[in-house]
Amino acid sequence: MSFRLFDLNDPQRHAATTLEGPLLILAGAGTGKTRVITVRIAYMLAQGVAPESILALTFTNKAATEMRERLAGMVDKEVAKRVTMSTFHSLCVRILRTDIEKLGYKKNFTIYDEGDQNGLIKKIITKTAAIGEKLEPNLAKSLISKAKNNGWNAPQDEKTLIGSVFARYQVELKALNAVDFDDLLLLTVKLLSEHPDVRQRWQRRYRYLMVDEFQDTNRLQLEMVGYLAKNEEGSPPNVAVVGDDDQSIYGWRGAEVSNILEFEQHFPNPTVIKLEQNYRSTNAILNTANALIKNNPRRRPKKLWSGKGEGDKIRLVQAPNDREEAEFIANEIQRRKVEEVLEFEHFAVLFRMNAQSRLLEEAFRERQIPYKIVGGKSFFDRREVKDVLAYAACALNADDDVSLLRIINTPPRGISAAVVERALDLSIRHKCSLFQGLQLPELQRTVTPKAAAAIAAFVSQMDHWETKLNEPLVDQVALFRSLIAESGYYEDLRRSCKTPDEAHKRESGVRDVIEGFGRFSENSTDGLRGYLDSMALRQEKEEDEKDKEQGSGVMLITLHASKGLEFPHCYLVGLEEGILPHDRSKVEGTLDEERRLLYVGITRAQKTLTMTYCFNRFRFGGVVPCNPSSFIKELDPALLERIDLQKMLSAPVEAPVVKSRFAAMRAAVERVK
Ligand code: ATP
Ligand code: MG
Repeated sequence: MSFRLFDLNDPQRHAATTLEGPLLILAGAGTGKTRVITVRIAYMLAQGVAPESILALTFTNKAATEMRERLAGMVDKEVAKRVTMSTFHSLCVRILRTDIEKLGYKKNFTIYDEGDQNGLIKKIITKTAAIGEKLEPNLAKSLISKAKNNGWNAPQDEKTLIGSVFARYQVELKALNAVDFDDLLLLTVKLLSEHPDVRQRWQRRYRYLMVDEFQDTNRLQLEMVGYLAKNEEGSPPNVAVVGDDDQSIYGWRGAEVSNILEFEQHFPNPTVIKLEQNYRSTNAILNTANALIKNNPRRRPKKLWSGKGEGDKIRLVQAPNDREEAEFIANEIQRRKVEEVLEFEHFAVLFRMNAQSRLLEEAFRERQIPYKIVGGKSFFDRREVKDVLAYAACALNADDDVSLLRIINTPPRGISAAVVERALDLSIRHKCSLFQGLQLPELQRTVTPKAAAAIAAFVSQMDHWETKLNEPLVDQVALFRSLIAESGYYEDLRRSCKTPDEAHKRESGVRDVIEGFGRFSENSTDGLRGYLDSMALRQEKEEDEKDKEQGSGVMLITLHASKGLEFPHCYLVGLEEGILPHDRSKVEGTLDEERRLLYVGITRAQKTLTMTYCFNRFRFGGVVPCNPSSFIKELDPALLERIDLQKMLSAPVEAPVVKSRFAAMRAAVERVK
């Protein structure tokens, strides 16, 4: 075992070795909260705690993976594997796959992602709204999601349009044997609260519970932790949580800071530990973050300090427009990599909105700078990927309407859109799935013999695959491969592509999905269903894909996704009114949350931080003038170095600068030799 308790400071060590009773670690950014959790697990294992009884919950897959890797470096790898480190959503899937039947769903339920959800909600709105009534599908989706995160699985008022859409949405989901993301939590909490036998089984399984980033839990997640941690034998709940109220950035998703601020009310008499030494950043960075966050009311004040020295000032760069902003960053990273002998992985660019990444990506591509992107258009949004996953989903559960609709005529098989529409109507009337609707005699009577034959062929094909996939000991990977090959999908894909290049790219997309399942199967016994689950649950999908495609590079990442991570050199872009703080925050009264978001961004930086803003930005389809973010005024001017890009670019480069640059480059080359 190579973990060392003496690598921790006193309060950290106290936290890592306190194994019983509720434990609250409330501490600022970069103070080693995540590290403490990991070491605490290693310590438990060293004390002889069974790895199966340890559960660590995180918010993103990335965080879970990272924790798993850190632990694998500290203890025996085989032992580390047996510890459960998972996101809330993955744990919910695991619990539901075992016992969802108690709630009237079938075990092979499908998880709907946002795209599936949109499709279903749109369909319901068209069917439900009276003439002249309007409801924006996105709004409906977010209202439903809010309600579910409030713990409601049915509308408060069915008479309103949104109420009836919600009610219908639930009915249809259930008929499709599907659940959405919010259901995962909602149903798990329902299961745990209504079924003591299930609850006790999980309580007995996990004796040691830990939650990272607890400030981002919402009501349901808190309830879930409460159920799992409860000890029916009467000893205090054994849960350890770590978090930072200043980094609570998921209010819009129902997170409640009060969960951490009022931890004592939910879990009485906790051991409370504060960590104050920041190990991540220079003092210039840390104090800039502190100056900003001071402006938030209602927070637990903290004293944060760092032993890392003062460090460089924070650079605040004003750029004429967003294109120059992107080019400045790309040029500078390219130069600094050489001059300062760095790797591309040492840099990250952080932004508020996904749309901001486009120009940056272009600038990086032009210069052939490798980059990874988190968030943004994902591999899994690609048509062929969705199609192939839909095939797999249907083979496992043909009652999954959304997936069935994707593939029913891809490739074309003689079931016309009109027939599908009729089957869909019937399925709504009979409250059954589309697949069942297709087989109703009522439908069969109204279609041509040719269409009837086509339906029959399709149904028997689906049944065939389902039987095959469910045979014990079957090679599901090979089966999946031949399913796609035999379906005629490749031919259809090729026909639909405009260029051979595109066809090639899409075909390899299909193969990536199949190979992905192959790799998944090497480490898991959960089969095709487990693979689809893991796909549906990926929140940072793109990243893994890019990692594989082009190694690694500069990280382009949204502020939200950057939580918990750290990078030596950070660029924080678009510090403008309307972007950060976001326009919406004024209407919704969430300015404090925007400030916390910037705080999270600043505290990601280890050595240097550059912040930028523009005078003009391309938004809403045109160039609009912008104002610097009001947050800039709150920073400590003594720690800032202001740079005007226009002035800098028009000034002649002085000879000594050029010389020293060459010298640095030469030195870098020498070192490589
Ligand atoms: P965040 O609030 O951003 O999630 P955190 O509190 O979880 O941060 P960590 O990510 O655990 O902090 O730690 C920040 C950095 O400090 C990491 O690089 C970690 O390895 C380092 N670190 C933490 N504690 C110590 C220590 N006692 N000695 C040396 N380095 C440490
Ligand atoms: Mg952390």
